[in-house]
Order: sequence, then structure tokens, then C-alpha cells
Amino acid sequence: MNKEESKKIIILGAGLVGSLLSIYLAKRGYTVHIYERRADMRKESMSAGRSINLALSDRGWRGLKGAGIEEEIRKVAIPMHGRVMHNIKGELAQQPYGEVGQSIYATSRGILNCVMMTEAEKQGVTISFNERCLNVDLENATATFSDKKVYGKAIIGTDGAFSVARLQLMLATDRFEYSQHYLQHGYKELLIPPGENNSFLMEKNALHIWPRGGYMLIALPNLDGSFTCTLFFPFEGDDSFASIKTKEDCTNFFKRVFPDVVPLMPTLTEDFFNNPTGSLVTVKCFPWSHKDKLCLIGDAAHAIVPFYGQGMNCGFEDCVVFDQLLEKHGDNWSALFAEFQQARKPNSDAIAELAYLNFIEMRDRVGSAQFLLQKKIEARMHQKYPKQWLPLYSQVTFSEIPYSDALSNGLRQEEIMKKIMLLPDIENKWDSEDVEAMILKHISI
Ligand code: FAD
Repeated sequence: MNKEESKKIIILGAGLVGSLLSIYLAKRGYTVHIYERRADMRKESMSAGRSINLALSDRGWRGLKGAGIEEEIRKVAIPMHGRVMHNIKGELAQQPYGEVGQSIYATSRGILNCVMMTEAEKQGVTISFNERCLNVDLENATATFSDKKVYGKAIIGTDGAFSVARLQLMLATDRFEYSQHYLQHGYKELLIPPGENNSFLMEKNALHIWPRGGYMLIALPNLDGSFTCTLFFPFEGDDSFASIKTKEDCTNFFKRVFPDVVPLMPTLTEDFFNNPTGSLVTVKCFPWSHKDKLCLIGDAAHAIVPFYGQGMNCGFEDCVVFDQLLEKHGDNWSALFAEFQQARKPNSDAIAELAYLNFIEMRDRVGSAQFLLQKKIEARMHQKYPKQWLPLYSQVTFSEIPYSDALSNGLRQEEIMKKIMLLPDIENKWDSEDVEAMILKHISI
């Protein structure tokens, strides 16, 4: 293999992670060719119902900054300072996400992906569209398409939750660990259109949640004044996708459980029946790589449920770590891949668990008075003792703390808070010195 060929890298999938990673690789002098199954979304309109906006937080911003495209995305991102909870009577409760100045950002998946692809091309990356990889030859770093085979020094599989590259690792290697777990819930995207002159019909700088026990609706703002809403709902059961068969069923259900949103959704029933119902899967596997030939990154290695808003953020953090290891190992791909998977696997497992736990929290607890009180106590502790008590949400969303450490810290904090919330009359003495001393004592044990 001559010098030119040793720099040739193939990426499968020009999604969020593949596009970002290609920029990092191109900046380090690699010749990158991405093969993407879909058409070029810069030339096509986005299909409805495919998660059109995402919450971007600190880990994701670091990934974008490292690739030099942070500023461009900041221009089109809407800060969300906190949650606004809508109860069944339409009453609102606000809860900040972190300290003043800390926000997560609603960002259009399409804009983000388009900006990254354009930036990748500026850096010399070639992207071929309508190219669905059918197979990967692990020993020769060769990818097969319907009409050709292409080869490189290495192949990076960023082809998402249903990765073909991963399938090949599973079929062709010994002792490959794999699990996938589907939630009993699926999701459907719905729309709150803008008001007059592109005004927002609800608080713009917030993530709206309608928690209802067995299911929930959320809404994130878009630049044009609309909100993309996502209904997370059981596939089967009394209130479920299966139970809503007619437009009347749909309207009645929404009027009963999300009454304040119905007047804001003029196309509710059309959207409900026209938009696809997505499933929610957690995928875990190991190893993520084969020798110096193939490595999985992003959802291909670790798809998670979306309830912490971290799937993309985690994938972007993968790119940052990958780039640091490129610096360390240079062209020694087998060392790089080995260290990458060792470093990231515990963290991707941890965020998978955190995302699942947040599903339970958002679905069942987020609207309850007990939950709000607990969060108030935690916020107070953080304000008074920022070094001793950093809320789990902040560790995940606004820090670089490895996800695995955040998970263990968070479980420990939850144990402490369980004891505190059982104290008699906690509603009235939550901000007392006694309660504070008790928490500090538990922390120090
Ligand atoms: P993908 O974005 O899936 O990209 C994979 C790419 O590979 C696609 O372009 C696909 O067309 C291409 N491809 C697939 N197969 C092939 C093939 N055989 N050959 C060639 N190309 C192929 N994350 C957040 O951080 N914040 C959020 O708020 C958030 N919200 C979400 C809400 C929902 C409802 C869902 C489902 C996910 C959400 N996520 C969120 C997760 C986020 O969407 C994913 O983690 C992220 O898209 C992963 O990026 P990726 O590039 O690894 O995979």
C-alpha cells in the first residue's frame, strides 16, 4: 500500500456522526470518502416525521467546536433554559435545567447535518449519495455496493442504529457480544405551527413536557416559530397507538389528556395518521472494531433511547475522543481502535442506562409535587455546596464528567434523596439547616 492509499478512509453513513468525524479526519490529512444511503438532503425536502429537531448540549458543542463549526450552528440553535411542565388542567410549572446561563439548544437535525456535510466537502471530503452499503469485508477493509466494491486503509461504520457494518462484525467474528432492547413505547412527531408573523404560541426558550404516567408528549421550538412535538406512547394497551383507530379517537384522546395543546394543533389528526410511528431501541455490542480495518462509532456502536437527549451528543463526544487518539496513535489504527472502544464502551453503557432511567423519570415523576420538591432541594444544595453536590442532570448535560462517573454519582445521590424525601414534614422543612446537615453527612459517608 503506497502512502496515498494508507491515508484513504471510507466512512459509511453521512449522518450526524459520520459527517462530523469526516471533518476531523480531513483536517488531519486523511482522504475521506463517505458513502450515504440517502439522497443529498441539501437538494431534497426533509421527510415529515423523522425527528426534525434535537437537543444539543455541552458534549455536542465541544464536538462541533473541535471541528470549527460551533459558531455556524449557534446562529441557528434556540436555547432552552428549562422544562415547562403542562398538567392535565393546562397549568404550567417551570423548572430550570441548570444555573443561570446554562441551557440546552433545540437544533434542526437537517440544518446541522447539511452544515456539517458542506463543511466536510470544503475540507476535501467526498460524499457519494444514494449509495447503500450492502456488505463489508472485514479482512480487506472493502465495502460492497450494488454496482461496485470500494476499499480503503480502514472503514468507519457510522451507519446508525441498524448498521450493516455492525451486522458484519456479528456474522464474521467470534465472541461478538450483541443485545438490542425495544421499549414497549414508540414515538410519533406532531406539529404546533407558528402563530401570526412566525410568533411562538408557547414559551419559546423551553422544552415543554406533558407527563402523563404511562406516556408523555414533549415539544421543542423551531426557528420558524413552530414546535415539533413528539408523543412517546405505548404500542399496545388501553391508551396506545393500537387503541387510536379513527380521527375521532385521536381528537377525543388529546382533548382528554392534553387539552391545552389541542387548539394549537390544527393538523393533529392528519399528522397523527400520516406521520410514521418510530420504535425506540437500545443497542449494545462489543467489540466495536476489527483489527485495523473497521471501527463503529455513534449509534452504530451504541444506540440509546432519546430521553436524556444524549444520543447525538454522545456520538459527537466519540468524535472528540477519536480525534485525541488520532493525535496519540497517528496511523496505528489497530491501537487507536482498541483504545477508542475501551475508553468509550463504559461511557456508552452508562448513558444508555441513564437514558432509560430518565424515560421512567420523565414519564412517571417529572410532574409530581414530590419530584419538584426533590429537585428544589438538590438545586439548593448545589447552590450552597457546588463542589459537593452537582445534580445528575448537570453532570450529564453541562459537564465533561465521563458518563460512567455521572451514573455512579447519580445513583448515590438518588439513594440519599430517597432518605431525605421520607423525612416527616419534608414539605415544610426542606430548606432547613437540619435537612442540609443530613445531606452533607450522607455525602461524607
Ligand atoms: P444516524 O443519524 O442514524 O446516521 C446514520 C446515517 O447512515 C444515515 O444518514 C443513514 O442514511 C446512513 N446509512 C444507514 N445505513 C447505511 C448503509 N447501509 N449504507 C450507507 N449509509 C447508510 N440525540 C441527542 O443528542 N439529542 C436529542 O434531543 C435527540 N433526540 C432524539 C429523538 C428521537 C425521537 C430519536 C429517535 C433520536 C434522538 N436522538 C437525540 C439521537 C440521535 O438522533 C442519534 O443518536 C444520532 O442521530 C446518531 O447519529 P449517527 O450519525 O450515529 O446515526
